[in-house]
Amino acid sequence: MKVTRIDVYQVDLPYAGGIYRLSGGRTYDGFDATIVRLSTDAGFDGWGESTPFGPTYVAAHAAGVRAGIELLAPVLLGQDPRHLDRINDAMDSVLTGQRAAKTAIDVACWDILGKSTQMPVCDLLGGRIEGLVPVISSIGSDDPDAMRENVDRHRVNGFLGHSIKIGASTEEGGPQLDAERIKACLSDKTPQEWFLADANGGLTVEHALRMLQLLPQGMDFVLEAPCASWRETLSLRRLTSIPILLDELVESEEDLIHAISCDACDGIGLKVSKQGGLTRMRRHRDICRAAGLIVSIQDTVGSEIAFAAVLHAAQSTPRHMLRCALDTRSMVAKSLARFDAPLKDGGVAAPNEPGLSITPELVTLGDPIATYGV
Ligand SMILES: [Mg+2]
Repeated sequence: MKVTRIDVYQVDLPYAGGIYRLSGGRTYDGFDATIVRLSTDAGFDGWGESTPFGPTYVAAHAAGVRAGIELLAPVLLGQDPRHLDRINDAMDSVLTGQRAAKTAIDVACWDILGKSTQMPVCDLLGGRIEGLVPVISSIGSDDPDAMRENVDRHRVNGFLGHSIKIGASTEEGGPQLDAERIKACLSDKTPQEWFLADANGGLTVEHALRMLQLLPQGMDFVLEAPCASWRETLSLRRLTSIPILLDELVESEEDLIHAISCDACDGIGLKVSKQGGLTRMRRHRDICRAAGLIVSIQDTVGSEIAFAAVLHAAQSTPRHMLRCALDTRSMVAKSLARFDAPLKDGGVAAPNEPGLSITPELVTLGDPIATYGV
């Protein structure tokens, strides 16, 4: 089987909640999605998505994704899409890093592998683990009461995890406001729920220590991505006993091995486009398993196509190490594909259809903005 054609689509995905706020004054009202369709000489096609969380989250941006695909396309045409490691070797041979650009291609190849073997991607990633995958909400920074209400809206809709964004500047209220946000969001916590206080690298060690001192003993949450650098993260790690989950600092295998060798954290937020696709994310997941780290399985953001990749990865992740998956559908106000995985009874289950199990909405996608191979 050979890749014969690559179509690239661009779609703007509006944020579903108005304005999304992160630490450092970052705001977002929508996301620029790149969708890829790979066609083959065997009649199978595969779909993948890469939607960076704007240009100020990790070192990835939407125009870079599309420029990267332009460089990658010539070495992909004629390759067998089922040979996932060889596909990634071929991509690495012409472009260093740029994991977000490689993601849509890699995921589309997994979709083809699934369709050609009549297996859902979760089975190819190690095998379905029966049962529902718990999903996590993403609660942008706001005043404490508004965040508490937002958590409650998601709780009512079946979310068992909640990622609450912190990282207030001194002018906004600093550590005091962040402590109030955490207390407000956890005030209605049920025993099954899991909370992350996610600073997206926006805290100094001093801010984090002051915030933690302002909280009552025994609050059950995990601090995510407190600081932007390894130096600060390791300093905070030595000075506190709070569980720490890393996200933005861990993109490559080298980052993950460094985190483990420094004992920098207790878990990792794995994101399909941050890690560089499902091939790399599976490897990262397995390294986490060997190291005894818990994982949250996510993508930066995205449509049903991105969420399908997330869900198949989560559905095949051992439950003792899986805390939740991010349902990116809840973050965007536009649908790009049919994906039969409703949220109910506290979780979602990957459909038992071949590949990613999605049916793209071709009318919404419009015409490709670039086509390679014809
Ligand atoms: Mg995060």
